[in-house]
Amino acid sequence: MTYPNTQLFIAGEWRDSIDGKSIAVFNPATGQEIGRVAHAGVADLDLALASAQKGFETWRDIPAIERARFMRKAAGLLRERAVAIAAVLTQEQGKPLVEAKGEVMAAADIIDWFADEGQRIYGRIVPSRGNLAMRQMVLKDPVGPVAAFTPWNFPINQVVRKMAAALAAGCSMIVKAAEETPAAPAELIRAFADAGIPAGVLGLVYGDPAEISNYLIPHPVIRKITFTGSTPVGKQLAALAGKHMKRVTMELGGHAPVIVAEDADVALAVKSAGAAKFRNAGQVCISPTRFLVHESIKNDFAAALVKYSQGLKVGDGSAEGTQMGPLANPRRVTAMAEFTQDAIKHGATVAHGGERIGDTGNFWQPTVLVDVPLQAKVFNDEPFGPMAAIRSFNTLQEAIDEANRLPFGLAGYAFTGSLKNADLLARRVEVGMLWINMPAMPSAEMPFGGIKDSGYGSEGGPEAVEAYLNTRAVAVMNV
Ligand code: NAD
Repeated sequence: MTYPNTQLFIAGEWRDSIDGKSIAVFNPATGQEIGRVAHAGVADLDLALASAQKGFETWRDIPAIERARFMRKAAGLLRERAVAIAAVLTQEQGKPLVEAKGEVMAAADIIDWFADEGQRIYGRIVPSRGNLAMRQMVLKDPVGPVAAFTPWNFPINQVVRKMAAALAAGCSMIVKAAEETPAAPAELIRAFADAGIPAGVLGLVYGDPAEISNYLIPHPVIRKITFTGSTPVGKQLAALAGKHMKRVTMELGGHAPVIVAEDADVALAVKSAGAAKFRNAGQVCISPTRFLVHESIKNDFAAALVKYSQGLKVGDGSAEGTQMGPLANPRRVTAMAEFTQDAIKHGATVAHGGERIGDTGNFWQPTVLVDVPLQAKVFNDEPFGPMAAIRSFNTLQEAIDEANRLPFGLAGYAFTGSLKNADLLARRVEVGMLWINMPAMPSAEMPFGGIKDSGYGSEGGPEAVEAYLNTRAVAVMNV
């Protein structure tokens, strides 16, 4: 299938940027340019903003049950088009086709869930303290037009988690998706456009990320900011939003600990954490990264994880049977080389991988590092790649202390056969999401988000919709 060029979507129309500028898009498996994406300038952004304001005024007045019909129709179109969209996603992002199709199907499920949830946005009536002729109401209203900034690792799902919740709440949204993976988010927006969503409710722009965020965040039309990406950029955007008193949701980086206790089922831990580790070549914010394994089982665990890694078929995501694709961009290959060299310098052993594969595309070997000292960069900065770093512990408290040592607090994993350990871990590990004796299973109905430097706000559950609502108090005296 030919990879499409991507246009901007403004005021219900697909269009090039006014000044005709565009940016190249590359296939990470081949390094070849495969298409171009329109680069918006300020004049395009002004049109998108005016249209988002109009779109909001239309959408907020459509009853929730009607909004849900548009959303379900878009979800149906995504399911029908899943194979074609997956092919586009894999070409620009690199992940295996089966993962890409899974991402599209999951997006449809997320839209359906929020379509339903949007019909359950209730206010409340609060009994009066005195005069019973006074009716006190708590009203929930959409915040207004939203600016969303999303990254390249899940080009569709990072957008849909924001968009489905915002649409359910009655907000319009301008999405600035990642320039490196522009066509898949455009297919998501196309599904809504083809479902008949009114003009202006959704906008899609690309360009210079800093230029666009610096223009949209302070703009008076925009009432809410939502960002997924790295912690340093998130802090910058949150500061700018704070300066302009805008509501914010931040889904930032993590450095997920995996605690494998003495009484853990090692085979289950390797299978669950291994699959989670190398999914999307480790470019996942909830990817397990710091493997903390009890001293008595560390060698068995490391050997089994190495065996698991050796069995992975690495290649072009478009090829049949590929289990791990290339990294999404050359920056990640450079980062993997730096993490590996630094770990070796600090005394870690490379038990498997640790090198680039070939010289075409951004391929990196699934990598397992053992006996990694705490000072190594990989135990401090998010690797965001196919790299498992293992070290041992003696007491569970030591493992919990290490899990909580870093400023991040997004996801965590633990494996233990004991209810007592599980309960202690659930209470003490400082993360927004913890999975015990299982792989990560995020779903639309469960909160998704971090604590500490991993951000604030949630992109799942009723909390995700709440993030797009204003709560107002209105009292009426019946005179
Ligand atoms: P980066 O921090 O430059 O960019 C991350 C994302 O933020 C990109 O999509 C980028 O377009 C966007 N961005 C950057 N500056 C921006 C700005 N001023 N305004 C608006 N958007 C902006 O890093 P990168 O090289 O693309 O990725 C590296 C790191 O980012 C990773 O190591 C990882 O920690 C983090 N990351 C996290 C997620 C996640 O799901 N939380 C996804 C992608 C990247």
